[in-house]
Amino acid sequence: MAASWDRRPPAQLTKTREAAVRTQVVDAVAAFSPFWRGRLKALGRTASSVASLSGLASLPAAGERDVCPDGDPAGAAALVLQAGESGYALHAEGPRLRKALSRRLAAPGSYRAIVESDTRPTSYVWAGLGLRFPVASTRSDLDVVARAGARLWQVLGLSRADVVVSALPTLPTATLQALQLGALGAGSPLLAPGQRREQVAAALALVPATVLVVPATGGADLVEALAEGEAALSTLTTVLVAGAPYEDERAELRQVLDDAGLGEVVLLAVHVPDGHRLAWGECRASAGSTGLHTYPDLEVVELVDPDTGEQGSGAGEVVVTQLGMRGSALLRWRTGDLAESVATSACPSCGRTVPRVVGLRRAALVPELALRTGPKAVDLRAVASAVGGRPDVADWRVVMGRSSRDDADELLVHVRPADGADEAEMAVGVARDVRVACGLLPTQVVVGELPAGSGLTRRLLG
Ligand SMILES: [Zn+2]
Repeated sequence: MAASWDRRPPAQLTKTREAAVRTQVVDAVAAFSPFWRGRLKALGRTASSVASLSGLASLPAAGERDVCPDGDPAGAAALVLQAGESGYALHAEGPRLRKALSRRLAAPGSYRAIVESDTRPTSYVWAGLGLRFPVASTRSDLDVVARAGARLWQVLGLSRADVVVSALPTLPTATLQALQLGALGAGSPLLAPGQRREQVAAALALVPATVLVVPATGGADLVEALAEGEAALSTLTTVLVAGAPYEDERAELRQVLDDAGLGEVVLLAVHVPDGHRLAWGECRASAGSTGLHTYPDLEVVELVDPDTGEQGSGAGEVVVTQLGMRGSALLRWRTGDLAESVATSACPSCGRTVPRVVGLRRAALVPELALRTGPKAVDLRAVASAVGGRPDVADWRVVMGRSSRDDADELLVHVRPADGADEAEMAVGVARDVRVACGLLPTQVVVGELPAGSGLTRRLLG
């Protein structure tokens, strides 16, 4: 008998993953997604050259700016698998195809019905960091999300006896969908009254909640306000922080829980990377110290150099390849999250042999800057590719800083010209390219010596 999903030995896992990558690339994505088909062609790659773990790793990562280069979310439609009846016969899995074909003999319309239920998107969530675009799911995708959700419950140490109240905004996000379908898959009741304190308190008064889900941003304030308002928190055993909290957010929440006399409550992160649909969680045994646990048979998680999007070593941007998902299927998708590492050794706390994403900093590559004109998410990856792609630039640094004048955030681009470059012309060109790439003119383009310092990455300095 095969080992359970989270205890498979490495050799067995590799075999499963190789087969899943092959099926996903050859039978689904390269065959039916206009974007990925076009991208492979543009890169001069065939589907079969990408249809293995090593082939996949050699595919340049892609993100929202590659799909929607001019910022128009309509481009995201090209991600979605679009299967016709004839293509389906060539690519569908054997048992499914046999079922469809045999039904066609008895009921001529049923072949189309089966093709559609297999490949037709029926529900959407919204994603995007620098822009906002819909992510499509088929019925079979929602099934995968629910199955992964039942696993998430295991990782979090929850059971069907747990009662969940979500204080996340009731927007159609992948995180809320993953939690709702996860509760469905695990058999737990879940109430999602929205993020307003009064509504959350009212829901807590209705059910003996054991789990409270709060957003990473503002989660501590919400719990503090609930405690001050004497909301029914005494039955809680677990607080889930949606969105991979930064260390200060986690520490603040811990403090607020301790102050409210809830020192026994376990604090765990859950996170859906942008564009993805499966929620990763921290295992209960680790109390949040060993990283986000992933699903090796349903996704490939890697890190790439955030300045270039290419295969890197060490810390980098989290990229995700979905296995077995249809709808808006993703290959090596750039999530905008940074992470220290993807650990593949067994978890020291729970012993699961699933890859763990350690030290994740959500959306670090698309920070929201408080500009003089208001808040704006700036895609630093777009800035990097605009500046890094210029032949008249030898090297560069991008610095995010605060203006000493009025405390507004600033975006400074430092460039060292290539030999023989016209400095004035280069400075104007860099400013223009950055504006086209991320919709924001740099506060200043500084030509000359590059600043030293540490930051998000080698060239993006905080
Ligand atoms: Zn673990």
